Amino acid sequence: MSKSISINPANEEKIAEYQRISLDEAEQKINIAHAAFKTWRSWSFKKRATLFKNLASILEENKEEYAQLMTAEMGKIIGQSRKEIEKCALVCRYYADHASSMLANKTVNTEASKSYVTFQPLGVILAVMPWNFPFYQVIRFAAPSLMAGNVGVLKHASNVQGCAYAIEEAFEKAGFPAGCFSNLNLSSDSVESVIKNKHIVAVTLTGSEPAGRSVAAIAGKNLKKTVMELGGSDAYIVLDDADLEKATDLATFGRLQNNGQTCIAAKRFIVLEAIYDAFLERYKTKMAAAMMGEPTDDATYYGPLARIDLRDDLHEQVTKTITQGGRLVLGGTIPDRKGAYYPATILADLKPGMTGFDEELFGPVASVIKAKDEQEAINLANHSNFGLGSGVITSNKERGEAIALQLEAGNSFVNKLVASDPRMPFGGIKNSGYGRELSGYGIREFVNTKSIWIN
Ligand code: NAP
Repeated sequence: MSKSISINPANEEKIAEYQRISLDEAEQKINIAHAAFKTWRSWSFKKRATLFKNLASILEENKEEYAQLMTAEMGKIIGQSRKEIEKCALVCRYYADHASSMLANKTVNTEASKSYVTFQPLGVILAVMPWNFPFYQVIRFAAPSLMAGNVGVLKHASNVQGCAYAIEEAFEKAGFPAGCFSNLNLSSDSVESVIKNKHIVAVTLTGSEPAGRSVAAIAGKNLKKTVMELGGSDAYIVLDDADLEKATDLATFGRLQNNGQTCIAAKRFIVLEAIYDAFLERYKTKMAAAMMGEPTDDATYYGPLARIDLRDDLHEQVTKTITQGGRLVLGGTIPDRKGAYYPATILADLKPGMTGFDEELFGPVASVIKAKDEQEAINLANHSNFGLGSGVITSNKERGEAIALQLEAGNSFVNKLVASDPRMPFGGIKNSGYGRELSGYGIREFVNTKSIWIN
């Protein structure tokens, strides 16, 4: 049986190897999960909430250990790793407090003596998760799904199995019954047989478009519901009335946060002609000043990419864009040092048809695009196969809101970077996927929305 290997992307040293489980072992774990579901579903919201509050405390108590593990496995800078754990605790508490009211029966006035809608759990949900937010993505799935009375099995990314096992252990420590949440250390080739297992009732995947297409097709063939949270190439329109200082601060953090590897990172900046050159000049200065370095060093602004192969793929996209006519303003060369580092890079004057415009750039590379006016900016923003997040930067909130409503994306923010918030639904359209996570919309994805009619 093969192993999952964790390699520190900052120094390319092996951290650990984790023996993968066999398909028979996975089946046994799913059987245990199914058995756990029968009891777990009958627990009150209050009883389930107690465990999620325990889990929140465990995450906080072990914040430093988990943050160090995450940083070692995928290179996130340490301050952002700590914040990720804090956000996980917040989401656990949010659903502990609100799941009951979100899933309360809804009376419907009909000619029946009594008619209402009730929300019942479905069973064992498979979560296929990525490495970029190795704790948060998992908790974002688990807190609503389990609070709704489902149980979960996790197929985490192969390079963050240390995190996957740490999360499984945190659930155990919090007092969750065996089988409510378990890690299946499997390769992606084994996902098909897990989806086909009769006890798996639905699948949620956060990851790339190709992984989403493959998993959605298999789940569709087996008539199992899916939620797909896929890639993005979020456009931020910078209007001619924008405060350039604020706009370039936002563009710098938005592109470099999580070392550029965030699905909802600001990736394409569509800047009106009147301020294009001024924007680029300031943006270049700020991106160049951002310090690339060791992710464990608090002074570092951004660290390495999660793996060498991902860094090489990104560099190829940059090179291709330049040969297609994109203008390299900053960065663009692989540094001569160990680790999966890639410098803050700016590609300007991009147009549809160029790689840096059309594809998702999952790393610290910004695509800057000129638009002659507001309407052209909207058209360029919407000229994408993706539709995850989007933004408008302006000093006129009404103008910003009017544009936000026209952007083809699941999230459109004015003067703020798109961020997930448990109070608001999160998800995409087009090739960025379908379905929603978080808020009351997210918790209802994996329930049986059932009509009860009493004559
Ligand atoms: P990825 O390669 O698609 O991997 C994601 C998960 O899917 C991993 O567990 C991976 O397992 C598994 N996987 C990959 N190919 C598969 C297949 N054919 N069948 C079944 N499982 C498969 O993505 P990533 O590189 O980890 O993450 C980056 C992508 O995720 C970006 O496109 C990013 O935008 C997107 N993302 C989206 C959101 C969102 O909320 N919309 C959030 C975060 C990230 P292995 O590791 O074993 O290959």
